Amino acid sequence: MGGAARITLYCGERRLAERAARAAFDRIAEIEQVCSDYRRDSEVMRLCDRAGEGWVAISRDLYRVLEVGQRIAQASDGAFDTTLGPLVALWRRMRQTGVLATEADLAAARSLTGWQKLRLRPGLAMLETPGMRIDLGGIAKGFACDEAQLALRCLGVDRAMIEMGGDLRFGCAPPFEPGWKVRTGSGRSLRMDNCGLSTSGDSEQFVEIGGRRFAHILDPRTGLGLPRPVQATVQAPSGLFSDPIATAVCVLGKSRGAALARRFSAKMIEFSGG
Ligand code: AMP
Ligand code: MG
Repeated sequence: MGGAARITLYCGERRLAERAARAAFDRIAEIEQVCSDYRRDSEVMRLCDRAGEGWVAISRDLYRVLEVGQRIAQASDGAFDTTLGPLVALWRRMRQTGVLATEADLAAARSLTGWQKLRLRPGLAMLETPGMRIDLGGIAKGFACDEAQLALRCLGVDRAMIEMGGDLRFGCAPPFEPGWKVRTGSGRSLRMDNCGLSTSGDSEQFVEIGGRRFAHILDPRTGLGLPRPVQATVQAPSGLFSDPIATAVCVLGKSRGAALARRFSAKMIEFSGG
């Protein structure tokens, strides 16, 4: 999924610790095989290849990610949208070529997006229009962290933290500690356990064209990356929610973002930018 995964855990037995870590990394690899758009043969890419062909059977994992994605899409009025694949492809082309996409390119890509054109039934998905592409870059890492944590817990390892880029998932606190220590973007120190914590923003990934800077988080209405510096950190009961909500909050801005977070028992821990 385009980045490293790191696991920190406490366990009294070295062999168990190694076995648990292996199980967690295996689970992350499984989810990558479902959700990644860097792999042509991932399940989600194969689903995209069948856009416009009606209902397609999908795995439990893919269903879960898409289903939560649709809930966040609806609640955010489309600010978060897993169907932005064609626009993400344009953004990547802009990054490669350094040339701003034309309004015609953007309009064509936008016509292939829209969360309402992704339909779900338990175990089934349908992309209504040929050419639609799903992009799970804003949600899959949070889910992978959750599932890694679950894999550890199944082997009795509860005191763990999983980290994938800006997405963190905390299990129980380290021994004799009130929680896992995290430092936020503004330098505040917090203690956390049993939750997901995701930071989204333009700090690591953006393109600059003609003095204009575009974040890798897209505004679905324009089709372009957010033109302003923005960063949001969101805490939620799980990574599957903290990840997409943090992405959505960047698009929605501070007050609408905070309201979205509250609807999902999540909390905006920090917000900076426009
Ligand atoms: P994150 O780092 O979790 O904020 O996710 C950013 C990634 O999510 C981008 O690299 C895209 O793959 C994808 N993405 C960009 N904009 C959006 C959006 N508005 N809704 C959903 N996914 C997006
Ligand atoms: Mg995200």
